[in-house]
Order: sequence, then structure tokens, then C-alpha cells
Amino acid sequence: MKRKISILGATGSIGRQALEVIEKLYDKFEIIALTGGSNTELLNEQISKFKPKYAYANKPEDIAGAEYATLDEICSNKENDIILVAVSGKIGLKPTITAIKNGIDIALANKETLVMAGDIVMPLAKEYGVKIIPVDSEHCAIHQCIKNISQVDKLIITASGGPFLRKSIEDMKNATVEQTLAHPRWHMGKKITVDSATLMNKGLEVIEAHHLFNMNYDRIEVVVHPQSIVHSAIEYVDGSIIAQLGLPSMHIPIQYAITYPERYEGIKSKSFSFSQIARLDFEEPDWDKFKALKLAYDAGRTGGSATVCLNAANEEAVFAFLQGKIKLFDIINTVETMMERHNIVKNPSIDEIFDVDNEIRAKSRELFLQLR
Ligand code: MG
Repeated sequence: MKRKISILGATGSIGRQALEVIEKLYDKFEIIALTGGSNTELLNEQISKFKPKYAYANKPEDIAGAEYATLDEICSNKENDIILVAVSGKIGLKPTITAIKNGIDIALANKETLVMAGDIVMPLAKEYGVKIIPVDSEHCAIHQCIKNISQVDKLIITASGGPFLRKSIEDMKNATVEQTLAHPRWHMGKKITVDSATLMNKGLEVIEAHHLFNMNYDRIEVVVHPQSIVHSAIEYVDGSIIAQLGLPSMHIPIQYAITYPERYEGIKSKSFSFSQIARLDFEEPDWDKFKALKLAYDAGRTGGSATVCLNAANEEAVFAFLQGKIKLFDIINTVETMMERHNIVKNPSIDEIFDVDNEIRAKSRELFLQLR
């Protein structure tokens, strides 16, 4: 039986790589729907190749070869066995909730969903008996290592350190967009690449891990590992550590998430030889240079709407940085200022989450005008 899948964000970096995986496993999958944003040209190429029944794009009239459906309609379609949520930003949240309520398993590449609403999404998935399989490489690594979560004492999340690992704070303050986007290990979308340069991405991953694995923040450790070979690890209560290793490639976590619990050769990534790896380095993050990481821990520990505030301020600031409106360190200053001023909403509803999100974005944009 073919597994029926829809991909939200098919034209993005994760979506395109997911289709490369599916192309190799064409006898294992049937595509129900593909969604894109404004890149309808690529979406239409994907439609003609993979023949989904339904498609979504910002301009429905430009879709050729599939029937138009909204994200909500796609996520309510119980034909789906699994939905890969690979959109970027807050637009992933509502479709994910719809899919869960329809009993459809989720391969989750959108970390904002858990950063904004992990306290709602995870219990809901449990209630509906839905699996949430992480696509993020670190969480995929942890997912692969865990046999019995109750025996796990600590999660160890690795971070490459990004392009500024060996640069000074002064260098970072004057960094251009181009320097920031030059990630040494991973080729990803622009937003996540900026987040990787400030280590905010790692902070968001800590919050994501807290929700996915129901782990206290004191038991989630971040370690810088520039080679990006060890994708993350767990420590059991007896002190035994299990890690998942591989060359950096998103094909592995994507394929793992959409085929779980099976494993296939599929797009088999290049493996590496232990004897050819000269060395693996590990070090503690520089908490002064990468203050974003501390802000994320603080937001996570505070809970409630604090992580919504963190995420919204960061996302708006990253967009402003990419547009040349603010400097790289202004991203962190914006997040810090917004968090200081934010009145926490405890146990926010989905509507309250979006209210806080909108409010923080508007306030962040006001702040950018003062920074210019
Ligand atoms: Mg990651």
C-alpha cells in the first residue's frame, strides 16, 4: 500500500528535497496535494511530474494540472496518511492543528509551530493519536536515538556555530547580509540561515525539543560542533550516551520522517568513514556572542506567550535585516527589548497566540524606525 502524503511548502528548500526523496521511492508514495506560495512556475513543474490531485498557491488562477484547495481543505482531507509541514514561519500552525484533528500524522519541519504553540499542539496530537515526527536534523537524530524516553536524562543538541563561530563580536556587529548567509555547513532558506548565524535557530530548537520530547529545559544542553557530523545525542540515566551521525544532508531526516517507522535505501546519502574523519570538535557556546540562545532558554523557561514574543520579534527583525533596514545585532536587541516589555499571557489560546504575535510584530517594526 502506498503512503498518501501532502507537502505544505513544496517549493521551499525542504519541500524540494522531500520530492527528491519521493522520486526515489515512487512506489511507496502517492501525493495527494502540493502547496506553494508565489513560485507557481516551480509548483506547476512539480504538479506535472508528481500528479497530485490538489494544489494550493497564492494565486489559484495560476495553478495548472491540479484542482485548487485551501491549506485547511488539504489538511482536513482524510485520504492523507501523513502531511509534511515544510512551510516557513507562523503559517504552519493552523494547518498542523487541522491535520491533527483529522487524525493525520505530521512530519514537522516547521519549528515555529511548536515554539508558538507546543503546549497546545503536543497534547492535541496525543488526544488524537497522531504521530509528530520531527524533520529538523537535531530532533530527528534524537528521535532515532530514543528507545524509552523515561530512561533519558539529557538531550544534547549540537550546533555548527554558523559563519561567525571564529569571528569577534565586533565582526558580527558589522556583518553584511552576504556574510551572514554564507553558512559553512548547511544550505537552507534565508530566514533559518540568519537564525543559524545568531544561534537563535538553536534556541528555537531547544524550545522545539522541550515540547517534542517533554524534556525540562535544565536537561537540554547545546554543544557547538563545527563539523556537523554528530547531529545530536541523548544521555541515558546510567550515563550512556547515544548519538546519531552522518554527513550533513537534509535528505536523511526528511526520508526518515516520511517513511517512519520503515527505513529504505531511497535517496541513500553519502556515508562517511570513521577512519577518514580527522577529528570531531566540541565546545561550549559563547553565551555573550550568541545571546539569542540565552534569550530562547529564558523564554522557554518563562513559558506562556514568552516564546511567541521571542519568535515574532526575531522573525520580524530577521526580515528587516535581510532588507538592509537594521544590523545583525539589532535582531538580538529587538528580541531582548520586546521580551522585557511583554506582559506574559499564561496558557494562551490559539487566538491569543496570534494576537500576541501580531502585536509584537507591529511593535518590533516601530522599534526598527527608531534604530535607523
Ligand atoms: Mg536544525
